[in-house]
Amino acid sequence: MKRNLSITGNTSFTDLKVDEPSDYAAGVPGIKAALEHVNKESGLFKSLSVLSEMNQKEGFDCPGCAWPDPDDRSKLGEYCENGAKALAEEATDSRVDESFFEKHSVEQLSLWTDYEIGKSGRITRPFVLRRDSVHYEPIEWQDAFDLITQQLHQLDSPDEAIFYTSGRSSNEAAFLYGLFARQFGTNNMPDCSNMCHESSGFALKETLGIGKGSVTLDDLPDAEVIMIIGQNPGTNHPRMLTSLEKCKKNGGRIITINPLEEAGLKRFKNPQTVGGWIGSGTPLTDIHLPVKINQDVSLLKLMMKKLLELENQGQNVLDHNFINEKTSGFEKLVVDLATYDDQELLAASGVEMKLVDETVKLLTSKSRIIICWAMGLTQHKNAVDNIRECVNLLLMKGSIGKKGAGTCPVRGHSNVQGDRTVGIMHYVSKELNHSLKETFGIDAPEHHGHDTVGSIQAMHEGKAKVFISLGGNFLSAASDTAYTAQALQNCDLTVSVSTKLNRTHLITGKTALILPTLGRSEKDASGGQQRYVTVENSMGRVHRSKGVREPATDYLMSEPEIVAGIANAYVEDDSPINWTVLGQDYDLIRKKISEVISGFQDYSAKSAGTGFYLPNNARVGDFSVVPGGKAKFSVCNLPKHSVAEDEFMLMTMRSHDQFNTTIYGLDDRYRGIKNERRVLFMNPEDMKKNQLQKKQVVHLESNYDGQKRRAENFKVIPYKIPQQNLAAYFPETNMLVPINHFADGSRTPISKSIVVKVIA
Ligand code: SF4
Repeated sequence: MKRNLSITGNTSFTDLKVDEPSDYAAGVPGIKAALEHVNKESGLFKSLSVLSEMNQKEGFDCPGCAWPDPDDRSKLGEYCENGAKALAEEATDSRVDESFFEKHSVEQLSLWTDYEIGKSGRITRPFVLRRDSVHYEPIEWQDAFDLITQQLHQLDSPDEAIFYTSGRSSNEAAFLYGLFARQFGTNNMPDCSNMCHESSGFALKETLGIGKGSVTLDDLPDAEVIMIIGQNPGTNHPRMLTSLEKCKKNGGRIITINPLEEAGLKRFKNPQTVGGWIGSGTPLTDIHLPVKINQDVSLLKLMMKKLLELENQGQNVLDHNFINEKTSGFEKLVVDLATYDDQELLAASGVEMKLVDETVKLLTSKSRIIICWAMGLTQHKNAVDNIRECVNLLLMKGSIGKKGAGTCPVRGHSNVQGDRTVGIMHYVSKELNHSLKETFGIDAPEHHGHDTVGSIQAMHEGKAKVFISLGGNFLSAASDTAYTAQALQNCDLTVSVSTKLNRTHLITGKTALILPTLGRSEKDASGGQQRYVTVENSMGRVHRSKGVREPATDYLMSEPEIVAGIANAYVEDDSPINWTVLGQDYDLIRKKISEVISGFQDYSAKSAGTGFYLPNNARVGDFSVVPGGKAKFSVCNLPKHSVAEDEFMLMTMRSHDQFNTTIYGLDDRYRGIKNERRVLFMNPEDMKKNQLQKKQVVHLESNYDGQKRRAENFKVIPYKIPQQNLAAYFPETNMLVPINHFADGSRTPISKSIVVKVIA
């Protein structure tokens, strides 16, 4: 039976209102928005007491982004507006129960917008969508596990199963999940990081020997210069603004490189200070360079050329000791930079020379430089080169491995980094396989598995038939929405371990399961004892998270219990791993992690309080693990784009009422958008040239390899963005990104540089 499903939901418009973009972040409007959200979902007083435990040492970790917590936690609250919204989503009083699914078929639900689907509430119990049905129905936990087992046993090869992980899962759950996938016999472990910071990991591992950033939270106030490239912390990592404010108050300077001038980087009204309530706030950005989409390499090359010229003129610009002792490849970089013409680089970047000169002048005498970045650098065809070029600049200045300096890729989901650390990866690690054999007696597969793109292609081609998702909203997060939808629908079984309903529960395999799990803020008890899990923040510190609220229903299981339940049903008695015990005893899981993965000695004990940092060679300036024993300069090419006269370069971005694929609301307060998501930000000159009026409805069309993809119904908004550049919200425009167009090396989809036509 073919279900009649919509992969986009309703694309008609609501009541769009457009104001001037804000020129500051947070302040009273931020507090008001946070309170409104929590009040609407679960009542103000109940929520405020829970929020007071968020990000506290004995409390629970915010399920939002991965920004670290300071050592001294404020009792006023260690959360931002978006952390409050994340809690509001999880703590909502709305419920998806039997009556909900009796009333609504998946066909009807698929017509809802992602926002409406998300607002339907917490999933109360396991549900199954049977082969010839359009209604989910209840299923008991053990029956659900048996159904998965039955499908797994029917596969011709373990590589016909896919085990996807989202960044919300704890270290304990992710470790068990990876262990089961390997015991089952596959490395098909795509991860949400394949779609975001894989490019960072790839470039940093190659150049500095570790695929993670090198700075800690304490470095930011000590930096002389913080460069923020392709990142919008005001919306996506709001508490970073507190660190930026500290840097400014210590005399540091902030350079932002981004096509849009984001409110959060203009001024910050810190809600924890009196000035944040009644004053004008702290100005953050000193120099904003409005680079054209994906021309960061052009701009960085121009800056490095100019720094070299100043050095040649006798100024003391470079850190020669560092370059000579700690790096390789500098001469090749110098030779390569000399082949570029300044004016051509400038024209490609779209930035005025006076801004470049100002930036270079600032960088000349500084050595404590931090570069922060996010998806604006990582989701392009040349994304790995984008990161390599940032590393080049830092290495030139000796700005790695010392206080107040280094790399800072800012991770978007609270444990996306930890999941990878504890073994979620699609490639073979001989070291890990060896440790798993020693500790568990299992023979992990010795061939690589699929990453996210590879998994979608395998499902589309019928080479993978079971898809299990530990968290996340895979369909909405992935590129090429129609292709991904078909890939999921080709599966015999899709399984989602989730807290709330999302589109991936509606566009499913022939049979589908929803397995409801505890949220971060909820108590996780066993035998009367409350357990805690652990997570790793964006800066490599591992710490505890312990829920404080009663679970949404008695029927929920924790993620480790669910993974162990599936494993137990699959392996029966024939296993060297005692899954029943392992799924219950988180201390035992942590003990096993410490036996298998280095850096986790005394794991449970050390995770208390502020937690512990994992080893980081780049942080201490030790590059002996890089082949050749030194940090590596790279020679990068300019991005190749062919955007015709009638085409545009489109970037996707998040609204302020959004966290990844979760849509909290329909406003984007900082950009002046109210009550609508289907908007297209366009330069007013481009609007004039194309005879487009404000709020006129247009469609977007990409044409890659002769295949046209179309996203319908967007209202044009005049906005300060470079000409021939456009911006629209993720995930509404993901459907324009072809599955086979991704970053060289990291295979991250090109969601930030899509060539499109605007159809009026
Ligand atoms: S900055 Fe990130 S982790 Fe911190 S409260 Fe806000 S959303 Fe949560």
